[in-house]
Amino acid sequence: AQEQLRQAQKMEAVGQLTGGIAHDFNNLLTGVIGSLDMMQRQFAKGDMSKVERYTTTAITSANRAAALTHRLLAFSRRQPLDPKPVSANRLVTGMEELLRRTIGEAVRLEIVTAGGLWQTLCDPHQLESAILNLAINARDAMPEGGTLTIETCNAHLDDAYSARQREVTPGQYVCICVTDTGVGMTADTISKAFEPFFTTKPIGQGTGLGLSMIYGFARQSEGYAKIYSEVGKGTTFKLYLPRHYGEGEEDEGHTTELGDELR
Ligand code: ADP
Repeated sequence: AQEQLRQAQKMEAVGQLTGGIAHDFNNLLTGVIGSLDMMQRQFAKGDMSKVERYTTTAITSANRAAALTHRLLAFSRRQPLDPKPVSANRLVTGMEELLRRTIGEAVRLEIVTAGGLWQTLCDPHQLESAILNLAINARDAMPEGGTLTIETCNAHLDDAYSARQREVTPGQYVCICVTDTGVGMTADTISKAFEPFFTTKPIGQGTGLGLSMIYGFARQSEGYAKIYSEVGKGTTFKLYLPRHYGEGEEDEGHTTELGDELR
């Protein structure tokens, strides 16, 4: 019964979201039609300056509508996974510039890469987009600034852990931890955060899709994702991806502290 209720709530959320998108799309379409209609009339009158103005309005509205469907498509399209042996250390340090630009100047970035890190088997592009999404969430959780830490380590999830977290297969994983010193999440938010369309952000700012996509990526990669969070203290997001047992050297780790000069 609990599961049915949850399912019903989810369907309600999906309904609300699709309804909201249909509504937004319809508004934009109304704008396009209205502008084209005005254009036609002004054209008949020969007022070319007004024709130009209405053309611009129509193009702007049409572009917004295109962006809206694009976002929706990007979510619904099941992106095929292309798993490869990946060095998480190299991947994370390679994102340094992008991450710094994403989080802005108020947030300090700290990257801690473990020495002797195993390689993992996953789709590197999806891992990058997961980390970027987590960084955006972290930035949103720290409007007054703070520290974003991205840390890698080898993790052995044993039978006892796997018994507690039923979804986990015991074994060796590469863990990527993303920690912020932001507002944190309530227990209720944590329990719903992975659900598609769950968001606490204002309309137009949050889609509620970021974490559900990351969760999907983790599960499809035969890994695991978990949130630890405390209101007022911050959030740690742990992404476990399976160890790759092949050739390929283990990584030299090092610690970089970035953004100090920005303080
Ligand atoms: P969105 O960011 O579009 O809302 P997500 O699926 O990425 O969608 O996140 C869902 C919700 O989880 C957010 O609206 C927010 O309430 C909460 N959340 C996610 N990341 C964090 C974080 N780092 N700190 C606090 N709350 C978070």
